[in-house]
Amino acid sequence: MKKSYRIVTYGCAMNRSDSERMAATLESLGFQPARENRAPDLLIFNACSVRQSAIDRIYGQAGNIRELKTRNPKLKTIVTGCVLPQDRGSFKQRFDLVFNIKDLARLRSDLGDFKKPSQQDIDYFKIEPRSQSKFSALVPVSFGCNRFCTYCAVPYTRGLEIDRPAAEIVAEVAEFISRGFREITLLGQTVSSWRDPEKPKYEFVDLLAEIEKMPGKFWLRFTSPYVLDFDEKLIRFLAQAQKANNYLNLPLQSGDDTILKRMNRRYSVSEYLRVLNWAKKQIPDFNFSTDIIVGFCGETGKQFQNTYQVFARIKPAMAYIARYSPRPGTVSQKLMKDDVSAKTKKARLEKLTRLLRKTAKENLEKEIGKTLEVLVDTWRPRKKESLGKTRNFKTVRFPSPKNLTGQFANVKILKAREFELEGKLI
Ligand code: SF4
Repeated sequence: MKKSYRIVTYGCAMNRSDSERMAATLESLGFQPARENRAPDLLIFNACSVRQSAIDRIYGQAGNIRELKTRNPKLKTIVTGCVLPQDRGSFKQRFDLVFNIKDLARLRSDLGDFKKPSQQDIDYFKIEPRSQSKFSALVPVSFGCNRFCTYCAVPYTRGLEIDRPAAEIVAEVAEFISRGFREITLLGQTVSSWRDPEKPKYEFVDLLAEIEKMPGKFWLRFTSPYVLDFDEKLIRFLAQAQKANNYLNLPLQSGDDTILKRMNRRYSVSEYLRVLNWAKKQIPDFNFSTDIIVGFCGETGKQFQNTYQVFARIKPAMAYIARYSPRPGTVSQKLMKDDVSAKTKKARLEKLTRLLRKTAKENLEKEIGKTLEVLVDTWRPRKKESLGKTRNFKTVRFPSPKNLTGQFANVKILKAREFELEGKLI
């Protein structure tokens, strides 16, 4: 009987994409996904170090692992993904194996297959993923990050940015499209800083243009871009594109220049606003979200108020708002004081969230009465309703007796809630 595996994934789309590559590697070694009620032979935690809570949840698995081991004494446990050096040591004491996601080849030898690994095993990017979805593909274009924001663990857990050659990315995307995939999402920690390592003049915008030209009906998304990588050329391309994003997640992090400097974000508020205003003016039906950290080291009431005012001015459709929490080994943890109280952080988060509810709803209300094209991603048979996303990433819910998952549908918008639209299929 084949051995079985289960992967528990924490964190972002990048980690979900890594899990797909891991699943493909395990299946090439003869493993199969474990059935839900069975204790697997291999339990893998794909960790995220952006917040302590995700790491604590892995430590908190001890009881569950004990219970699984009583049902399957051969169970092996593995931790990979974004793991800080400080956590690596203590995970090693608790789990059977801790490995760097880039070293998937090691997994092969660590699991007892001591054949000399092929070049394909060695190159993380060359592993064909086992996509979780039948219509939406995650395609990594780079690994790691060179930006070193002072609060962020990524450059330490994933290392410096390694870009994948354009030819490989294009071939992988073409393969997904030939299999009928409707949505391609290019992934990178700062996806827009990607350049072809084999042809350095070939930039991210050239990659988008090459994929945009591919025949077939699909939408091309990318996340997360970095504001300093945006130039007129990229915005002009997005303005005329038919398949590529007219939605951007453009992290601001703070609306105060002193805090941005302390975060080592390398742009000022006015530089951010310049890029955002270009995009708003030039890209038809443009929609955007942002990321904000409240209560960063030394953030005064006035500095938070600056963030609040910028937020009120830019009116994002969505924002991922986090309370600052120091990650071990980062510059802010080592050299700065986490001196904003938990109570103040909470109050700032709530204040910004209240504003977000307003800006999000205003943004969606503009769509009432329009007919929008939606890529359906969920069907709820009990409620007989579907959910999906527009090309500019607005969530739409509508009644549908049939499962339309993976299909495009035209929906007339009747109502706007805070974070989603409601309509009827036409
Ligand atoms: S850009 Fe900054 S926040 Fe984003 S992954 Fe890189 S270091 Fe982290």
